[in-house]
Amino acid sequence: MAGLACAVYLARAGKQVSLLESANVAGGRCRSYFDKTLGCRIDNGNHILLSGNKAAIDYLSVIGAAHTLSGPDRAEFSFYDLDTATRWTLRPNRGRFPWWMMQKNRRVPGTRATDYLRGFRLAWAGPDQTVAEVLGGEGALYRRFWEPFALAVLNTALEEASASLLWPVVRETFGRGEQAYRPRIAREGLSESFVDPALAFLAGRNAEVRLGCRVRELAYSDYRVSAVVLADETVAVGPEDRVVLAVPPPVCAELVPGLDVPTQHRAILNAHFRVGISVDEPALLGLVGGALSQWVFLRRDVASVTISAADHLNDRPADEIGTAIWAEIARPLGMERDPIPPFRIVKEKRATFAQTPEQIARRATTRTGRKNLFLAGDWTDTGFPATIEGAIISGKKAADAVISLSEIP
Ligand SMILES: Cc1cc2nc3c(=O)[nH]c(=O)nc-3n(C[C@H](O)[C@H](O)[C@H](O)COP(=O)(O)OP(=O)(O)OC[C@H]3O[C@@H](n4cnc5c(N)ncnc54)[C@H](O)[C@@H]3O)c2cc1C
Repeated sequence: MAGLACAVYLARAGKQVSLLESANVAGGRCRSYFDKTLGCRIDNGNHILLSGNKAAIDYLSVIGAAHTLSGPDRAEFSFYDLDTATRWTLRPNRGRFPWWMMQKNRRVPGTRATDYLRGFRLAWAGPDQTVAEVLGGEGALYRRFWEPFALAVLNTALEEASASLLWPVVRETFGRGEQAYRPRIAREGLSESFVDPALAFLAGRNAEVRLGCRVRELAYSDYRVSAVVLADETVAVGPEDRVVLAVPPPVCAELVPGLDVPTQHRAILNAHFRVGISVDEPALLGLVGGALSQWVFLRRDVASVTISAADHLNDRPADEIGTAIWAEIARPLGMERDPIPPFRIVKEKRATFAQTPEQIARRATTRTGRKNLFLAGDWTDTGFPATIEGAIISGKKAADAVISLSEIP
């Protein structure tokens, strides 16, 4: 997303762009593919956005794909507590002032209006404070609202996740009122929303896109990148050329000697079940109190479960995980526990970097010590968590930096 967004904004500004991608398909962690086990297309991971994700919405508008997201025309989140078999829907009021918190029947069950004030503490969180520390780490609101939300955003256990990194998201979404936190899901798939339209946009502006083209090395001379080394060719970087690296942190560290990057990652596990009953519009269900499942996404006839900060499951066999997840979600979905529908477990071991205070301090800036080299990626220092929104912000920042540099006489 970072590389694509950067390319899109540069091409829109009239720059000649070459995009080099090591995989045979574009999209990185944000793409769809045909899964042979299930016999249908799925996303490599469930992705949710909120209507207040300004950078992502702007990117989709530029590539002509804003209409490909689906979601309710007001903020609405359904939840199920697996511990108590309780179901509720969070339906905030329209407008900016959150008076829904004052009404018992609109609040998260078991919470008081004053509990919600604690969220403001995030605004003053110190750089070393964790989410659990700032938000208290217990109570109904924490368990039934903050935990599912913050874990999905930060993909890091809340006892170690940075509180100050959560605040920009809260400010940009909950802080701007109901219209800024309506859930949004790609209607067809991530590639159909975020990738294919971007590739079409780039093709329409004569950008060169080379897939299956891994950058092996960068050559430097005089504090500049002088060449990009590929498998069977070395591309010279001329005085007017700029290089933007939008690769994961370990690759970036290899290509840019001396650069500090985050070194720890956290996993996300997705379990996709082909349930055989189709929904017309994609839907979302938050689960609390379970041993495993956190969110269920329903799209067409696939129910996909997301488990963030899932490193503890990396070595557990897929069959065992799928069986345990189905045992949790069959009831809330109103389906039979037996037989288990066909499923696919996808473990992304390096789903995002670990968003702890210590790792955040290692995020790199857009500009580097080399005059013509810029960095992008959800792990760079955007001030936002590692999400689609963060990746797009980083890509746009890099494009702006390239454009402003080329405007210097
Ligand atoms: C399972 C899962 C669930 C997620 N859920 C959400 C969600 O609900 N909401 C949300 O907003 N975000 C979510 N995210 C995060 C989101 O997907 C990422 O933040 C975003 O896609 C990162 O984009 P990126 O461009 O920074 O990195 P990447 O997608 O990792 O892109 C880096 C690219 O560089 C390429 N590359 C690597 N090495 C080289 C090389 N040497 N030469 C050329 N190319 C190279 C890679 O192939 C890749 O395409 C999720 C991620 C995962 C994995």
